[in-house]
Amino acid sequence: MSQIMRAVMCCLAIVACSSSVPPAEPPARSDWRLVIHGGAGVILRADLSAEEEVQYHAALRRALQAGGDILASGGSALDAVQAAVLPMEDDPRFNAGHGAVFTADLGHELDASIMDGRGRDAGAVAGLTRVRNPILAARAVMEQSEHVMFAGSGADRFAESVGLDMVDNDYFSTDRRRASVQGVLDRRERSSAEKAGTVGAVAIDRDGNLAAATSTGGMTAKAAGRIGDAPLIGAATYAQNGICAVSSTGHGEYFIRVGVARAICARRELKGESLQVAATRVLDDVADLGGDGGVIAIDETGRYAFVFNSPGMYRGKIDQDGVETAIFGPNNSATEIAQ
Ligand code: ASP
Repeated sequence: MSQIMRAVMCCLAIVACSSSVPPAEPPARSDWRLVIHGGAGVILRADLSAEEEVQYHAALRRALQAGGDILASGGSALDAVQAAVLPMEDDPRFNAGHGAVFTADLGHELDASIMDGRGRDAGAVAGLTRVRNPILAARAVMEQSEHVMFAGSGADRFAESVGLDMVDNDYFSTDRRRASVQGVLDRRERSSAEKAGTVGAVAIDRDGNLAAATSTGGMTAKAAGRIGDAPLIGAATYAQNGICAVSSTGHGEYFIRVGVARAICARRELKGESLQVAATRVLDDVADLGGDGGVIAIDETGRYAFVFNSPGMYRGKIDQDGVETAIFGPNNSATEIAQ
């Protein structure tokens, strides 16, 4: 097994459940690389049938391939993260776009953000109700408006004005998410398992540019009008050339309070910490406040990290060495990686 492969396997198996920081991973250089997540939460092998597990791996691979094709042919990290998020928004398995969780009012309000590490341009949308692909709306805000963030009906109208595909709100509904919100409302408690499925991507392209994107339906049974971390630049999404790119998933209120994505990049920039150390420290901070979730991150050399303090996180990477995907943490199986 090559050194690069060993480093990659090591990265894929890393989970930060405590304050102990694993040693910094060796460089795993590649001309380009894309890393994605499909949400973190209480994802247990016992809760997924063998068939569902295979389907999740296949869905992650489709997203990786979509973004990887762009990077392999010399495209930008920005286009790659968008291309990776799009198929996950269209896939009902994930809590983004079609398949988004329900609010307590039994509707859908979607959040997304995207950031280009080249000039730190960013675009974000919150509380969308009619835009089929929120990540495209975030990109349009970045490139076709003078603003960084739109929310609510104004965000929907802006997306429509730039020609994005509009849908009825029930386009986002699935039976699985309906049963889930009903269960949460009946029990009047937050279901960590059922909120999993937010999607995100970080990438480095052949020119060394970094980018990050995140898209979500939010938390099951969230109050109407609630905005989570996903559309907030610096909380769930951050990208800065020469430093790092991050996308987060988890209990958004805690990620906002910690400013997770920016904090990871700041630690790397100002303290010189490896991604693994920086992300672990910041996730420890989230855990100390009572929050759970995970992050994916990539630095200016192409090193990357998956760090989460929940039992599982749908995740994967693609680079010149190939595609790898994983779901569970080491508590379930340290070496579970679908090739
Ligand atoms: N972070 C998202 C939110 O709080 C949910 C998630 O990632 O599971 O809206």
